[in-house]
Parts: sequence; structure tokens; C-alpha cells
Amino acid sequence: MLGLMQDWPLLVHKIIDHAALYHGEREVVTRSVEGPVVRTNYAQVARRARKVAHALERHGITLGDRCATLGWNTARHIEAWYGIAGIGAIYHTLNPRLFPDQIVYIANHAEDKVLFFDITFAKLVEEIAPRLPSIGLYVCLTDAAHLPDIEVPNLVAYEDFIADADPGFEWKEFDERTGCGLCYTSGTTGNPKGVLYSHRSNILHAFIAGQADAMGLRACDTILPVVPMFHANAWALAFAAPMVGAKLVMPGPKLDGDSVCDLLTAERVTMTAAVPTVWLALLQYLEKTGKTLPDMKRVLIGGSAAPRSMIETFERKYGITVVHAWGMTEMSPLGTLGTMKPNVEALPYERQLDYKCKQGHPPFGVEMKIVDDEEKELPRDGKAFGRLKVRGPAVAKGYFRGEGTGAFDAEGWFDTGDVATLDPDGYMTITDRAKDVIKSGGEWISTIEIENIAVGHPAVAEAAVIGVAHPKWDERPLLIVVAKPGQAATREEILGYLTGRIAKWWMPDDVLFVDEIPHTATGKIQKMTLRERFGKHKLPTVAA
Ligand code: AMP
Repeated sequence: MLGLMQDWPLLVHKIIDHAALYHGEREVVTRSVEGPVVRTNYAQVARRARKVAHALERHGITLGDRCATLGWNTARHIEAWYGIAGIGAIYHTLNPRLFPDQIVYIANHAEDKVLFFDITFAKLVEEIAPRLPSIGLYVCLTDAAHLPDIEVPNLVAYEDFIADADPGFEWKEFDERTGCGLCYTSGTTGNPKGVLYSHRSNILHAFIAGQADAMGLRACDTILPVVPMFHANAWALAFAAPMVGAKLVMPGPKLDGDSVCDLLTAERVTMTAAVPTVWLALLQYLEKTGKTLPDMKRVLIGGSAAPRSMIETFERKYGITVVHAWGMTEMSPLGTLGTMKPNVEALPYERQLDYKCKQGHPPFGVEMKIVDDEEKELPRDGKAFGRLKVRGPAVAKGYFRGEGTGAFDAEGWFDTGDVATLDPDGYMTITDRAKDVIKSGGEWISTIEIENIAVGHPAVAEAAVIGVAHPKWDERPLLIVVAKPGQAATREEILGYLTGRIAKWWMPDDVLFVDEIPHTATGKIQKMTLRERFGKHKLPTVAA
């Protein structure tokens, strides 16, 4: 017997309608790409999103068509997302930090029909446009006065594109499982693969994200997503914030410590989210200037492991609660969040910190398990580590155009490619990417754990550990360090700092100091590049 409840399709444009009706005056503030800080609100965003939908429909865009965006976090970008999705077309976020060849590959693979882009990327768009045969319309996210003078076919300023479109345009109705957003993974091996979110998965994911023990979003919050919309849906914030009526502050192109701090202060932001490298810059800026962030309550850190020292500085020095989160593009992206369960909250702060350094526990809607190489499930004892597999309504069941099938098994589990432990309380700890783990004498060494401890040394800004071939042990860890500006440390000092903090046999065989550690387009340490550069480093522990 079926239930007698309504089939109310979970379509994302319902979110912006809800925000317009019940939180219409709530602001969406943007540091615009043109320069000034501009202000709009959910009522306006919803009206203009309908105009985008109408303008696209007039252009012939229809159900299932891919419309690419190459843009910073701005109100216009949000309007474009909702407008595109509201006619059943698919917003496809392109990551401008990728190489032009990769962007061309991805846009062609997706067969994008329209490209919305910020003026920042005008030259890039001009360069790649001749290689993008499927794109028939280029919409520059600006007004006529700022339209760049570039050679691109069918170029129009966004404000002109929507000028006479209907703000009362009726959204389309379609199945909630319809594709809504497309984002390619930043995979370091092989070609990037497309993850196609549905309306249903985006809405369920926003519900999941907003929960009190996840991001805990409220109408009273003012949220600044530093994490870009082109990095896995801005971690749900473009949906979850309007869902509850939280004010949004969009940082545009300026993501340095100084600019982010200015906006956080001026707009009295209460919650923000970004990868650790962004927070590293912000904390250095706060340290240098002596500024504080009195309104800030929570900072979400994810994308890479948040080091203990970073969590401690935010919490102890600035009184800001850290929520350490883990996820991936294939998971929409949230998988776990490090909020405190009652037994953990009851612990002394030093012990709580141990839990905050873990990647968190899964909210309802994310199933996870760890398995060994024979696919046998491993115990949830906080010690055994194995490949992390996940399932849920906001987890991919395949990649766009049927690629990468090996990551999905017959029972619907997705292999994350991460190696992790699960503890009896449900907290998960990532020990490594499967391909980065160091195998020494048949045992695994967690590079992430050594890195996290190394950055606790007062002179260390960033640290990376890679495996280097060793005749006796197969591989041994090499620690690569960037010193904080104006600071220095010796190899012996760093190793001395690690002594007693990590197992003896995890101790790096050598320490190298570099000016910079390379990062991927989504802010992760590029271990492959480091292995290419330092993989042949001669360890002092190898006899000549
Ligand atoms: P992406 O799809 O670009 O978001 O990358 C997802 C990958 O980033 C995950 O599979 C992890 O390897 C890594 N990652 C994300 N969050 C964390 C975290 N909090 N700690 C460690 N690694 C993380």
C-alpha cells in the first residue's frame, strides 16, 4: 500500500522561491568582479533567476542542455545557477584554475551550449573559444559598460541578456531526478570525470548540510562561502543558505587574507567555509595585524586535512568553533562533519581536540564502511584502516557518459579512493589518499598525520610528506617543509619536534625546505608533482 502523501518534486528552484517569499529582504552581498561591494536580496535574486531562465529558453536552451559557468562566487553566479536549473537545463561549473587545455576538454566533453563567464576570464575565454564548437552563446557576467573588448562569437553582457526577460517567468516542472548540476572531479590521474547532481540530490544534500550537527545553519547566520561555487557546489551553501534564509556574503575574486578579513568584519559574518590554505593565509593576516573576528561563530574547514594547530588557534585564540569536514565532488560533497557528540563534549579540551582533528561523523544520509584489499569489511575500532566506501542519496552512482565504472560496486558502494579508520563513536579519520599512502616494511604510514603534526612547529607554514624508495623498507617518508615568512628551522629541530609525537618508525628519514608546495586547482597538495621532483631524493639513511 502506498502512502497518501503528496509527490512534491524536490526541485532546486523551489529553494529560491521559498527564500524570496519568506526571507525576501535577506541580503546577498557581493564583492563584485568590477570592484565595488554590491547588495541585493533573495527576492531580487529569485526575480532575476527567472529572467535568466526566460532568456535561456528564448535562446533555445531546454531540458538537459548543459550551460557552463566560469565564475567567482557572486550573486549573478547564483542567479545563473537557479535560472539554468529552473528550466531543467544543467549548470556546469568550470574551474578557472585548471589549465586552458583541461577546461577545453571538460567543456567539450560536456558539450556545453552556453558559457557564462566573469570579466576576469575574458582573455582566457577569447583564447579557448575557437576550440569550443558546441558553445553558441557567451554571456559575460557584467553590464554593457564593463563588457570586455574580446573576439568571441555571440557575446552578450549578462545585464543585457536578461534586461527584457520576464521576472514572472514560470519555472518548468519535471522529474526531481532530472540532472541539475555538473562538476568534473579534479582527479590527478586520467581525464577529469563528470559528476551529475540531480535536483533531488541537491535538495537532500542541502537538508543534510543544514542540520544542527552538520553546518547548523540558521536564518540569523551570515555566511561567507570562500569555497568557490566551482568546487563541488560551494559545499551546498548556495542551496542551504537560501533554504534557511541566512544572509550570503559572496567574496568574488579576492580570496587573500586581507580581503576576506575585510568582508568578514564589515558584513559581520558568523559562519564561513574554505580549504586549509585559505585559513592559513587568514590566520597569518590576523597574526600580523592583531585583528580579531568578534562576530564569527563557526568556520568549516575541509577539502584537505585541517591541522591541529590551525583548529587550536581558531578556537583558543579567536573563540571560533572549527567544524572539520570531509567530502568529495562525488558526494555533493559533504560526507562527514566534526561536530561534538555528548561523550566527546564532556571530555577535557585537549581530548576534544583529538576528535576535532578527525574528519567527523556522517550525518543521516551518508553510509560508510572501510574494507581491505579483498573487499572484506574492517572493524570500526579506530585502529584498522582500509579503503573508505560510501553510499547515499547525494552520492554519485556513476560518472557522466559512463566513465570510471570501476569506482562503483554492485551493491551501490562508491570507492572514495581514501584510506581511513572509523572509530566506535562513528568518527572517521582519513589517513591518506590510497595512492599517497607510504608502505614501509609492509606497514602503512599516514602522510596526513605526519604533516598535521609538523605544521604545529612554530616555524612551519606548510608540510607535505611523500614516500621515497628505500632498498630495505621499500619506501620511507620524506618531509618537505615551507617555513613561515621570516622564520627558519633546521632539519634536526623539526625531527626533534616530531619525536614522541609520532611512532618511531614513522619518523621521516629526511627533511627538505622549499619556498613553496604546489597545489591543485582545488587547493590540495600536489603530491604527484612532489614525487616527480623529490622522489629520487637520496635519503641519508641509505648507505652510499
Ligand atoms: P574534491 O572532490 O576535489 O573535493 O576532493 C575530495 C578529496 O579531498 C577526498 O577524497 C579527500 O582525499 C580530500 N579531502 C577532503 N576533505 C578532507 C579532509 N577534511 N581531510 C583530508 N582529506 C580531505
